[in-house]
Amino acid sequence: MSTTSFTKKTLGSLGFDTVEPAVTPPPPPAPGSTATSFAKKPKVGSTKSRKREIPEGLWTKCPKCSTMVFDKELDENLKVCPKCAHHFPIGARERIHSLVETCTFEESDADMTSVDILGFKGVGSYASKLESHKKNTGLKDAVITGIGKIGEHRVALGVMDFSFLGGSMGSVVGEKLTRLIEKATEKNLPLIIISTSGGARMYEGMFSLMQMAKTCGALAYHAEAKLPYISVLTHPTTAGVMASYASVGDLIIAEPQAMIGFAGPRVIKDTTQADLPPGFQTAEFLLDRGLIDAIVSRKDMKQQLIDYISFMTVNRTAAVG
Ligand SMILES: [Zn+2]
Repeated sequence: MSTTSFTKKTLGSLGFDTVEPAVTPPPPPAPGSTATSFAKKPKVGSTKSRKREIPEGLWTKCPKCSTMVFDKELDENLKVCPKCAHHFPIGARERIHSLVETCTFEESDADMTSVDILGFKGVGSYASKLESHKKNTGLKDAVITGIGKIGEHRVALGVMDFSFLGGSMGSVVGEKLTRLIEKATEKNLPLIIISTSGGARMYEGMFSLMQMAKTCGALAYHAEAKLPYISVLTHPTTAGVMASYASVGDLIIAEPQAMIGFAGPRVIKDTTQADLPPGFQTAEFLLDRGLIDAIVSRKDMKQQLIDYISFMTVNRTAAVG
């Protein structure tokens, strides 16, 4: 293979893209002109940038070690760089597939969709953003919930997906998770929620913020029933999600290097007028200070969850089988 025939995809960086743009097509550049080339900021959660006349989807450049990784190898490695173990974003369905036993996952509330209750208008309407994210991600909203088996354990599992509106928590995310938690309590099941989120969904105003109390209320009943809840924090888990269900697990674990926090570092720096320490808001920083209990790499996640649930349900046979 010639060295020029691969696609360079750089996550989170600016891409030069004139091939089938996902949103608002720019005017085409004049033939032979270089002056009309432009840099387009990728959408939040977008993982692709493409180069003209080069087939896409073959290689991805690791943003940490700059290694070009063959996409197939990256997929087989659960989206973890084989050289430096950088954890790339992974979709909710891929993650569920990596954790639960084959054909055991029964999804709940799969057709629940968000409503533009406030008639939100801004740069784009909420309704149009919902439509485009549904189309681009194949998801109905930013979380998938259901019951499945991990090892021998039946668990209630909720997995968020950052590619849907930045994993923001609106009414649907809150309602699906609350129903999942209530089902877990009713069926005596351990609960695992894997979070990734930019926070509350501002298009829904107060309806979004009230999900924080609602999910935590349901979690309190789950805790009262002495059932375990493991919260898994992945990059990034911030704001309203971190300030509610993601931070109240019996066990809180995180993926390596995940950014975890409430407000962003710039806001905190401006407010406190203090220099922030190195590594601020990373999983490693928070492990040192006791906010989280363990850092678990994605490749070890399934076995670790099995071990944790075995330990936490040692006297509860209902969770097994
Ligand atoms: Zn790497």
